[in-house]
Formats: sequence, C-alpha cells, structure tokens
Amino acid sequence: MTETPNLETPTAARSRTAATPDRAAPLKIAVPNKGRLSEQCLDLFTRAGIRLDYSHERKLFAEAREGRIKVLFLRAQDIPEFVADGVAHLGVTGHDIIAESGRPLDELIDLGFGSCRLVLAVPEESPIRTVEDLPKRVTCATSFPALTKAWFEARKVEARVIPVSGATEITPHLGIADVITDLTSTGSTLVMNGLREVDTLLRSSARLVATPGLGDGSMGREIEEFVFALRSVIAARGKRYLLADVPRTVLDEIRAFLPGIAGPTVVDVIGDEDMVAIHVVVDEAIIYDAVARLKRIGARGILVMPIDRMVA
Ligand code: AMP
Repeated sequence: MTETPNLETPTAARSRTAATPDRAAPLKIAVPNKGRLSEQCLDLFTRAGIRLDYSHERKLFAEAREGRIKVLFLRAQDIPEFVADGVAHLGVTGHDIIAESGRPLDELIDLGFGSCRLVLAVPEESPIRTVEDLPKRVTCATSFPALTKAWFEARKVEARVIPVSGATEITPHLGIADVITDLTSTGSTLVMNGLREVDTLLRSSARLVATPGLGDGSMGREIEEFVFALRSVIAARGKRYLLADVPRTVLDEIRAFLPGIAGPTVVDVIGDEDMVAIHVVVDEAIIYDAVARLKRIGARGILVMPIDRMVA
C-alpha cells in the first residue's frame, strides 16, 4: 500500500501553523527530488545521522528518527514557495532559485555544494567585453527573469527579458536574444556554445532555508538540533583524525606544525616512558607532509582516520 504525503495547501498550512502549533508534528524538510543537489543533500543527511526510511512512497517522501523528521521530495524550483508558506519547515535548494523566487526565507546554512554562478554571456564575436559596453537597449534570454530584470534596471540598461526554461545558450544563435544570463560552474557549456562571459550577477550554492520566524516557535528546538547536526558534518569536511606514538622530546616541534583544533591531545604510552601518543585533527591538505615529517622525527604507529562529524 502506498501513502500520499501530507502536502497541505499553503493557506491551510498558514492557518494551522498560526492557530494550533502541534508539538508532536514532525519536522518537515523539503529536498530536491532530482538534479545535482539531490544526491549531495541526502549524503549530507546520512552523514549527520539522519537515516531515511523509504518504506513509504520513495518518490514523494521518506521518514527519519521514528517519524520525527519527514523529508518531502519536491522540484528544487518549488521549494522556496513551499517553505515560505510553511508547508515544509525547512528546505534545501540553490541560492539562485531562492533569490529568483523573491520569497522571504531565513537562510540558515550555506551547505557548500552545488556551487555555480549566474552570469551574463554574449556570443564570442560580440563587441561587448564589459558591462559598460552594453548598448542602451538589449534583448536577454534567461530562466532567471526576476534577477536579470533587476540587474539590468540597476545598471540603467533597458532590457527586453525573454523567459526561457532551458537551452538558453542557443538563443543568441537563433537571433532570439543579443545576450543571455545563465548558470555556469566550469564554464565549458558556455564555451561549447560559442559564448563568452561578461559579468557575474550572482554566486550560488545549496542553502538550508527555513520558514521565517519558525525558529522561535514550537519547532524551534527540532530546527536547532537539525541545524547543529548538519553544521557538525560541514565542519568535519576536509579534516582527518591523526594518531601516532612520538618521542616525548619532539613534542614542541610537533605542536608547531600540527596545531589541530585545540592543539594535539597527548597521552602517556604505558610501558614506554620516552614515547607519548598524540591525537590531532588536521586538514586533509597537509596529511601527506605531516605523516612524512612525523616519520622523520621518530613517530610510530601512525593512523589517519576519517571524521564524520565535528562538534567543537
Ligand atoms: P558548466 O559546468 O558551466 O559547463 O555547466 C553545465 C550546465 O549545468 C550549465 O548548463 C549550467 O546551467 C548548469 N549548472 C551548473 N551548475 C549548476 C548548479 N549548481 N545548479 C544548477 N545548474 C547548474
């Protein structure tokens, strides 16, 4: 038997939230149902200890923490709307989509993935090299009409903005638009389509957003715990836990090149007065050099381990 998710209408959700805050109600989190943010978002949840139970209808929603968390799978574009209206308490989507929606939302965490930029691009052969070269009137195709209009307005350029829902890169070559604004991450799609970047309108990455004002209400504690769990995973990114037995005499030298989060923890090694065990959190980037240096100064039993979460 399949269940349908409890997706109330925005109006119903608004009146329920305002009139009858329900302490037993699950924390509802909207996440993208597909696309580049979806997988990384679920991976982040798993690392934070939020294991999803898909025994319902996987495509629509999943539960975690014995039903105390309900994850709703929605289109990334619709998430600002659902969160702003209180249908979901929290949501994960791109900052570009949030900004384009114009909906007031509390951005709680920059999740650090899905990085991209909304850029103004022109055909390779265009004489436009900088924003100052833009003519007084321009036709621009984009799937971000609100952000694009506002950007041209601020620069006093009269722009006819043509909304498109995909394949924006092709429009200048079809004579539909002089310029485009589009998302880019590596820049290769623009180059492949004979386009050149002129300026950046917006920098984006995935964000955790909340219904405005919810943090102070009955959901405050659940939201705080969830945010705390995600932050601890983000803090552990790029970090490793390093253990080694080292000669007591080289401790000062080690402290200088392995500062760790609060300096290495030093523990006596039973049965060997001359050696101590160090435990330290280090940046992944320096592990190669750190291990080589530790070996040179007489370290033994070096272990490097991953860290799932870091709570300072
Ligand atoms: P690029 O890496 O610049 O070649 O981008 C490849 C395609 O993915 C382009 O069509 C972009 O519009 C799109 N894109 C890149 N990064 C993102 C992102 N973070 N979110 C949504 N779309 C993106």
